[in-house]
Amino acid sequence: MIGNRPQFIKAAALCGPLRAAHDELLVHTGQHYDDELSAIFLRELEMPRPDVELHLGGGSNSEQTSRMLGALGELLRDEGPDGVLVYGDTNSTLAGALAAAQAQIPVAHVEAGMRSFDRAMPEEINRVLTDHLSDLLLAPSQVAVHNLLRESVAGTVEVVGDVMVDVARVLAPRARADAGPLQQAGVSAGQYLLATAHRAGTVDDPQRLHRLVDLLLGLDERVVLPLHPRTRARLEAAGLLARVEAGTTVLPPLGYLAFTALLTRARAVLTDSGGVQKEAYLAGVPCVTLRDTTEWVETVQSGWNVLVDLDVEAARAALARSAPAERPELYGDGHAAERAVAAIGEHLGSRAI
Ligand code: UDP
Repeated sequence: MIGNRPQFIKAAALCGPLRAAHDELLVHTGQHYDDELSAIFLRELEMPRPDVELHLGGGSNSEQTSRMLGALGELLRDEGPDGVLVYGDTNSTLAGALAAAQAQIPVAHVEAGMRSFDRAMPEEINRVLTDHLSDLLLAPSQVAVHNLLRESVAGTVEVVGDVMVDVARVLAPRARADAGPLQQAGVSAGQYLLATAHRAGTVDDPQRLHRLVDLLLGLDERVVLPLHPRTRARLEAAGLLARVEAGTTVLPPLGYLAFTALLTRARAVLTDSGGVQKEAYLAGVPCVTLRDTTEWVETVQSGWNVLVDLDVEAARAALARSAPAERPELYGDGHAAERAVAAIGEHLGSRAI
């Protein structure tokens, strides 16, 4: 089951090996429905078209999750799969896992065990609950395994690596070689900062939104900002969009390849995204995280990522640091999807997912 931008990327890694061994019914809940956040990923990542599209986007977290739960419960009754595979930490993840568990269908969770230990994040609640509903927990790292064991989850834990690494390994070199996205943004390699921000905790509260804008406009380097629709809407509502457009290079949300081209050649990245922190690490680009917690703790421990929340002085200090000499392989070797599919075959023993 998929529903939003990072899930398309994670599912892209699995679809091939999964379909070689099982029948897959790909369900798109419609959590992200615009072309910029949805269809372009399916095209660029050469994914099969979803077999079922539910158009369940919009509304509060509770409304959305409950709508999904109802629709997915019905779908699972009709289709009767042998197992349900969910990805990451979104409302689609939790609704898929809960609907499956209630229908007594085994659940496998890709990216299990990630914790920011911040229950104010809707994603953290989704992660914890999904892990406790899952029969097979496919963890990206040893830290994730440790988190799951400490919580005494009921399912089987397997460390398989991170499936986003699989995608980045294949596509990042191609993206990096394409000068087009840098030309279109009017920037040169190594001479700009790439910024993204879209989490509720960053952009929904007007005070925090003001701090974000002050931070982005308070840096000495050129900032390129592919703007998530939620952030654009909040900036417009707060009357801040014109200021941001004047002080940074605002772009629309980008497809994976154009975004990766800009990420891999940036001087540094500023973000509140989980996936982008990790991709910056993989690309050897220093990261400044606009939050005070992260689930990708290894990137901080290794010195490649600094948590600054929305403190402009802390961001400036983090950007002034030089990159560490070492960059160990933290999240696997690019073969996580194969291991995940092998574990699904072994533990769920199913043909139809
Ligand atoms: N991404 C993208 N285009 C953009 C911004 C991000 O393709 O304009 C990709 C990015 O490479 C990463 C993923 O989207 O793989 C991260 O998604 P997001 O920040 O929405 O979610 P999170 O990882 O925080 O759950």
